[in-house]
Amino acid sequence: MGRGTWRGTVAGLLAWLLALPLAAQEVNWSAFATPSTGQPRSIGSYANGCLAGAAALPPEGTGYQVIRLSRNRYYGHPELIDFVERFGERVAAAGLGTALIGDLGQPRGGPMPAGHASHQSGLDADIWLRLDLPPLERSARENLEAVTMVDRAWYEADPDRWSDAQAELIRLAAMDPRVERIFLHPALKLELCRRDWPDRSWLRVVRPWYGHDEHFHVRLRCPEGSPDCVPQDAPPPGDGCGPELASWFPNVLPVVLGPTPAPQPPARKIMPAACAAVAVPAG
Ligand SMILES: [Zn+2]
Repeated sequence: MGRGTWRGTVAGLLAWLLALPLAAQEVNWSAFATPSTGQPRSIGSYANGCLAGAAALPPEGTGYQVIRLSRNRYYGHPELIDFVERFGERVAAAGLGTALIGDLGQPRGGPMPAGHASHQSGLDADIWLRLDLPPLERSARENLEAVTMVDRAWYEADPDRWSDAQAELIRLAAMDPRVERIFLHPALKLELCRRDWPDRSWLRVVRPWYGHDEHFHVRLRCPEGSPDCVPQDAPPPGDGCGPELASWFPNVLPVVLGPTPAPQPPARKIMPAACAAVAVPAG
């Protein structure tokens, strides 16, 4: 084979490779510094999807401040950004202090190298439960201590930390009709269940889940204009304070606490085909 032919073959092979659509799961989603352009669309499911046309949550606003800005995980569907901003206004109006907003999603969503299985489609947000910090400089929000509200051995809310303010904080989030679910440690859900609320309907969306004892996780429904967004089933009817909640509690207390297991890297999944277009670099 002559040299010219060889070069031609390589060039042809390269052209063929470049023409192949990039499989979305081969993309390093945490490498994107900016959102994709175009209409906002949540694509796929919360734990296997991506986000087109994301908006950025301003680093601080009425009643909230974003923590750990260097992680670049403060992007979401505009409905999620609006949810956090309205939530902050309610927090301020209730005199609860300044809410600490943790991870939302990456600029184009998608899986993260560590830390979350979900938060992929721009509809999930973590909100810390501690309310004792004043507005801080951005750099001072990088290495804050997450404070658990649960006595982990006895599976009870810790009365030195958990108070009416935390209960009200969760209620204010759950009252937003866009919220599909809130994940919260079973011991904290039980504490909410024991309270005497005039309206208990919002308790339905507060779902028990391990972890979630120093933050709660808010998940919004699929927004309008996102035909590829995969919704979740609605939570079971009722306030979720009965046998299902009881099933989350260990039979023997106190629990013998071992070291926290190292987080596992997220499983590789076949991502929705529509995410390949979101991963195309901005031209
Ligand atoms: Zn979360």
